[in-house]
Amino acid sequence: MRSWMPFLSAAALVASAQAPASKADLAAEQRLRRDVAFLAAPELKGRGNGYPELDEAARRVQGELKALGLQTQIQRFPFIARVVRERQEAVVAAEGGTRSLVWGKDIEALGLSGDADFKAKPLVFAGYGVQVPGGYDDFAGLDLKDRVVVIARAVPDLDVFAHLPRGERGLLARLKKLETAKAAGVIVLEDALRPLQREEGPVKVDLPVVGMTIEGLGGACGDVAARFKAIKETGKPAAPEAAAAAFSLDLKLRRDEAQIPNVVTVIPGRDPKLRKEFIVLGAHMDHLGLGERHSMGGAEARGQIHPGADDNASGTALVVELARELKKAKPRRSILLLHFAGEEEGLLGSQYWVQHPTHPLEAVKFMLNFDMVGRLDAKAPKLMMGGLGAPKSAVEAAQKFVPRDFSVSADVGASVGGSDHMSFSQARIPTFFFFTGIHGEYHRPTDTADRINYPGMVKLAAFGKAVTLDLANADILPAFDPETAKLPSRGDGGPMRIAFGTIPDYADNPKGFRINGVSQGGTAEAIGLQPGDILIQFGDKTLKNVYDFMGALGAYKPGDKVVVQWLRGDRLMKAEATLKGRS
Ligand SMILES: [Zn+2]
Repeated sequence: MRSWMPFLSAAALVASAQAPASKADLAAEQRLRRDVAFLAAPELKGRGNGYPELDEAARRVQGELKALGLQTQIQRFPFIARVVRERQEAVVAAEGGTRSLVWGKDIEALGLSGDADFKAKPLVFAGYGVQVPGGYDDFAGLDLKDRVVVIARAVPDLDVFAHLPRGERGLLARLKKLETAKAAGVIVLEDALRPLQREEGPVKVDLPVVGMTIEGLGGACGDVAARFKAIKETGKPAAPEAAAAAFSLDLKLRRDEAQIPNVVTVIPGRDPKLRKEFIVLGAHMDHLGLGERHSMGGAEARGQIHPGADDNASGTALVVELARELKKAKPRRSILLLHFAGEEEGLLGSQYWVQHPTHPLEAVKFMLNFDMVGRLDAKAPKLMMGGLGAPKSAVEAAQKFVPRDFSVSADVGASVGGSDHMSFSQARIPTFFFFTGIHGEYHRPTDTADRINYPGMVKLAAFGKAVTLDLANADILPAFDPETAKLPSRGDGGPMRIAFGTIPDYADNPKGFRINGVSQGGTAEAIGLQPGDILIQFGDKTLKNVYDFMGALGAYKPGDKVVVQWLRGDRLMKAEATLKGRS
């Protein structure tokens, strides 16, 4: 489960009396306990993406499903598992002499860094590397071209940054600006040096990017700490100073690719006609491994196993348990069980499946996603249920299956957090999302199997089964609702000015910025863009990914006209768009 978003409203149906568990329930509880214990065991090393242990988890899931007599296959997709330095040298030359930097101590490459081989480029200090339209500008008066630019990774919450455009606070957006400015390289000032590892977002940028601490940089850019202090106190960017030092860098990185597994399993439907349609049940198997990335446990948690019992060994096991029950129930439509990899790294597995479906995508009529379903609160049992892309009526219909002993809190259109159902709602498939809530062990080494509420999972399995069968056996299914598919906008600064209406594909594409679709009534739809199109040019900006696109959009205002170019297959297409503001 990726970043957390507070849950909004609740329609609560509460009931209390606890019936003794039946034999069947106890048996189900045993199976769930056994599977979660296996998946969250230290031996599975937190099921990190690119780890052999994730394959072991996939084999386990496959074995369980095969034992039920089901057909199952592994779909592999590429993932940059490791970034290593093949060649490295860095030297700072200042008045007091030259200093060769120690890799892993004074300096480290960022995983998305381009290669470098340059000598004695002037160092220039540029604060946080941000530009607020009509306001604060770290680049004012600076010559950035062919220089090594020093910026801080973290942008503090200063008043002067209040109107920083959405998304431009992120490191990637700031690096993109420096790439456009043809800087020779970037030194990112870190609180603590980070190990070399893959980064979120694009695999590689066309710019050498290294991390250093202020101590490691020494006096090469003057008294950097004092300069940041002055910015915070005055709200003004640092005054440009003549370069006091030069930087030489020789860097070559190698990216080791792994092929990571989605597990695909089918329960064939019994109805001669409806069996051609699929209800997808999804759950991601991967978690954080040794917490190299996305751990919420702080520096001390890095290197520790993150067992991910709730996130998402619980959902993985629950979908296996549902398979057992659904096979027995002989649904009319077919059920497609998808156990994904790559969720923690940006929904990579579900995005990949939607782009490379093993079964006809247009035959997928509904998707149910189970992510973190192991922590039903025994005292106040409440399940959160989202319905991204599902009509309100569908969520209400599902509530009639709520067992007596827990409540469901449902909110159509707004789902908690980011998870794999988003890849399906982006492909205009209605979804339900099941989630028992956030807790103090989220993304920490303490998310262990002993904290899981197994009787609660048995109840959820009963609810999940009822909702799935209701969909699988219905004559007519609820249709995709674009209104509820809209994600609530999240601001981290000033308003985004332009609404262009593309549905991004976050996975890397060598040709440019690929889209999964367009939103109805948007500019993208108006100029004729279609799912699968690859945008390559936006005005004078070449696009290599969604980040280039976000950056390009930021330069325009409502009413502006811009020529957009894109690829449809091998055909180059272009159109002039009149940009619209965000409503
Ligand atoms: Zn998760």
